[in-house]
Amino acid sequence: MKPTATKKDVQQVIRLIKAAGLRADVSSGRFQTVIGIVGDEKKINFDQIKSLTGVYDVNRIQVPYRLMSRSYISHDIVVKVGDVSIGGNEEPVIIAGPCSIESYEQMFRIAKKVKEAGCHILRGGAYKPRTSVHSFQGLGLDGLKHLHNVGKDLGIPTVSEVRSEFDVEMVAKYCDMLQIGARNMYNQDLIEAAAKQGKPILFKRGFSAQIDEYLSFAERIVANGNKKLVLCERGIMPLGGSFKSQTRFTLDLNAIPVLRKETPFPVIVDPSHGTGRKDLIIPMSRSSIAAGAHGLMIEVHDRPQEALSDANQALAPEDLTKIIMISKLIHQTIAQSEVPFSGDISNGASHDH
Ligand code: PEP
Ligand code: MN
Repeated sequence: MKPTATKKDVQQVIRLIKAAGLRADVSSGRFQTVIGIVGDEKKINFDQIKSLTGVYDVNRIQVPYRLMSRSYISHDIVVKVGDVSIGGNEEPVIIAGPCSIESYEQMFRIAKKVKEAGCHILRGGAYKPRTSVHSFQGLGLDGLKHLHNVGKDLGIPTVSEVRSEFDVEMVAKYCDMLQIGARNMYNQDLIEAAAKQGKPILFKRGFSAQIDEYLSFAERIVANGNKKLVLCERGIMPLGGSFKSQTRFTLDLNAIPVLRKETPFPVIVDPSHGTGRKDLIIPMSRSSIAAGAHGLMIEVHDRPQEALSDANQALAPEDLTKIIMISKLIHQTIAQSEVPFSGDISNGASHDH
């Protein structure tokens, strides 16, 4: 819309979009309102919209993730979880905690240590996605309550995975942020149910998903009216895992600047699952922040020998302190330099060899 467009002008455009059976996503900036069309835009007459008063221009965004593209929202989005801000030029946000919630005592012990280390958001899985039916499946609702109580007792916001659309209400009731895991990146019903409850969402990339595909599914969160979205690179592997690697997954560092360039939403990295090895978590954390990640999610356990899941990748709380310190330094150095993180880098990529 033109900067001079009135509310009535905006309403008229929305009416036309709705009359075509589509939905309108209204983004009101300080100087200008942009209206996004949600649905099949072939049903709409672009010339007719363009002729309405107050309309500045009508554009077709080529990428499938239109509401998330930089051409729709150019400024970086900052997502708030409790009083923690993720994204933009904010300092790196650290999410840490055990892979699984095992008891109130275990959660409290670890939470106290990660908080002292400087962690901002507490993680812990209650509904665990597990390959084997014989492994620990998580404490479910009891686990959520432990996480909630520990978060409240220590004054730290919490995040936990929601594995099915039937658990959305419970996880939203007890946590400040909902995590959708790599295995559920394609789960449309879960994504939509999670988006609609309105709390921030940590949306992990599927391990065999192309970035376009990943963003197309993330678009469903935004299209359902939830812009409190944080993206997460957590390592990839070829479909079927057909080559032998020394690491559990391959952390795709390329994805960080690509995602930052394509979308204004915050991007964090999970080097714990991305490597599966505790000895690689410090170097990959450093690299992720240097590549422009807005934060990290790290699995921490103070007694890995007792951990009920992912013991091999559980970092000691002392190492988390080191990661937080170095992350701040790297972030400050880059922020003070003339070299931008992303976004405004011209698209000069060449594929010549
Ligand atoms: C997790 O963070 O607990 C987890 C299971 O991660 P992912 O979905 O990336 O495997
Ligand atoms: Mn884990």
